[in-house]
Amino acid sequence: MNRIRTVCVFCGSSPGAQPEHLDDAEALGRALAAAGVGLVYGGGNIGLMGAVARATLNAGGHVTGVIPRFLVEREVMLGDVQELVITEDMHERKRIMFERSDAFVALPGGIGTLEELVEQMTWAQLGRHEKPILIANLHGFWTPLLTLLDHMHAEGFLRPGLESPHIVAARVEDILPTLEASLPYVEDMADNAEAVAPVGQL
Ligand code: AMP
Repeated sequence: MNRIRTVCVFCGSSPGAQPEHLDDAEALGRALAAAGVGLVYGGGNIGLMGAVARATLNAGGHVTGVIPRFLVEREVMLGDVQELVITEDMHERKRIMFERSDAFVALPGGIGTLEELVEQMTWAQLGRHEKPILIANLHGFWTPLLTLLDHMHAEGFLRPGLESPHIVAARVEDILPTLEASLPYVEDMADNAEAVAPVGQL
């Protein structure tokens, strides 16, 4: 049974220096479409963001773009999607991306990607949601962050029971199966939604 219906993908608004990152973003878009899992993302048509969204659309998948008004031009909003939400600010963007998604995936990216990923990790660490957070360590991109998290653990800054609540996949084809496998105790994501705090209470 496919229990994850929508995945929020955090990724760079730049393409990155290595061409394999664009290839991976496109492969994830195709995998989402093939699995019938909707893409929720930041709404832009540049960098890896545009690549994953266009690939999802081209493969017949469903895309929800969520972009603040002030970024519509700067991030070249992709208008040709099934669902487009233009928000007033970044806070509303992040709230809607959270609400619309059953899980989170971080592809390679920059500071914005890192911030979005870490925000979800902090909310999960504090027990405000139980949605899976997957770090896609493709070509070792996130190894420095994973090393830092290990360092925090070794130094006693990730308290027992509050360890960093993330999972890792090293290949694009492992992302969706790893997300599904992380949900052994949840019968259906709709049931899980009741356990998720409204963002206003975060
Ligand atoms: P980047 O990884 O810096 O290329 O940014 C990827 C996406 O994250 C872009 O859509 C940015 O608008 C978005 N972003 C940038 N800064 C933040 C932030 N502080 N919180 C959430 N998203 C952000």
